[in-house]
Amino acid sequence: MISVYLHIPFCKQKCNYCSFYSLTDFDKEEYISAIIRCVEYWGKKTKQKADTVYIGGGTPSVLPPKLICRLLESVYDNFTVESGAEITIEANPESCDKEFLTAARSCGINRLSLGIQSFCDAELAAAGRLHTAADARQAVSRARELGFDNISCDLIFGLPLQTCDSFCHSIDTLVGLDIEHISCYNLQVEDGTPFARSKISLPCESEQEKMYYLACNILESAGYSHYEISNYAKPGFESRHNSAYWTGKDYLGLGPAAHSKIADTRYSYAADACGFVSKTDFEFDTAEKIEDAFFEKIMLSLRTSKGLELSRLCRSGEFINRLCKEGLAKTENGVLRLTDRGFYLSNSIIADISLLEENSN
Ligand code: SF4
Repeated sequence: MISVYLHIPFCKQKCNYCSFYSLTDFDKEEYISAIIRCVEYWGKKTKQKADTVYIGGGTPSVLPPKLICRLLESVYDNFTVESGAEITIEANPESCDKEFLTAARSCGINRLSLGIQSFCDAELAAAGRLHTAADARQAVSRARELGFDNISCDLIFGLPLQTCDSFCHSIDTLVGLDIEHISCYNLQVEDGTPFARSKISLPCESEQEKMYYLACNILESAGYSHYEISNYAKPGFESRHNSAYWTGKDYLGLGPAAHSKIADTRYSYAADACGFVSKTDFEFDTAEKIEDAFFEKIMLSLRTSKGLELSRLCRSGEFINRLCKEGLAKTENGVLRLTDRGFYLSNSIIADISLLEENSN
C-alpha cells in the first residue's frame, strides 16, 4: 500500500507567516495537465495500491471544480485506489463554496481539511488570511449539508493579538461544531516571511505554552484523543494519510516541492512549477538515502501516542526513569509514550535519547 500526495501550489494571496511553496499567479490548466502526466508516469511505474490520497497545497479550493475532478479521475485511472480509501482535499474557507464542495463529493473525496486557523477576525486579518470567522462557520455548515462527515480543521496558536481566552474561543467553537479532527500548530516565524521581516508582537513563550496545554485539556475533555503532537481526533477519525508518514510507510508526493519516501530513500521535486510543467519525464529531482533510520524511528514514534518499544533502546534507561518521574513520559507494556508535557518538550527529549543511543546502534 502506498499513500499518494498531490501538491497544488496555488493560493489567492500569501499569508504573512507562510513559507510553503505556493504561487499566486500561474496557469492552473497547464499545471493540472502536467500533474496528470506525472500521475500517469507513477501509476505505470509503481505497482502498489493506494489506500490514501491527499490533495494539499497551497490552496486546492482555488482550482476550478472541473480540474479537481480531472485530477482525481487520473488517480483512479492510473492507480488501484483501495475501496474505502481515505481521500482528502484541503480548502480555505473563502473558496470553499458550493461548487467546490459538490465537485469534491462527486469525485469521491470523503475528507475535508479546512485551514481555519482562528475564529477571531482581528487575528485572521493580522495573519493575512482572506476569510473571517463567519466564512469559516459557513464553510463547515455547507460541507455538512453536502455530506462531508469527516472534517478536519487547523488552528494556529501563538498568532499576533491572540490571547489564551481568544484561543479557547477558537477551540470551543470547533468542539461546538462537532469537528471530527483538529490540528493545532504552534506558529513558527520562518525566515523570508512578512512576519520575519516586520516587528510583530507575538504572545510570549509562556503564554504559548499555556495555549498548548489549553488545547490538550479542552480537546481531551471533549473526547478527542491527542494522537500526535499537533493532532487530535474523535475515535476512528485519526488521519490515515498523515499516520502513514508517522509510521514510516511509503508515500509518493507528486508536484513541485513535494516529497516522497520509498523503501530507504527520500525523494523530492524541485520547488519550481515552471520546471515541473515542462518536464518530459517525472523522475524525482533529488534522492537521498535515509542514513538516520534509527533516529527517524525514535522521532516519529515519540511524536505519536503509539510510542516506541522500549526494546529498541539500550542506553536510555536512567533517562527514561527520570522522564517518568517528572511526568514527561509513561511506560506501559514495554512501550514508552510521551505525556502532553513530554510532547511539548519532545524536540529536546528526542535529541537526548538519540544522543544516548547513538553509539549502540
Ligand atoms: S493558504 Fe496556506 S499555503 Fe497558502 S499562503 Fe496561506 S499558509 Fe501558505
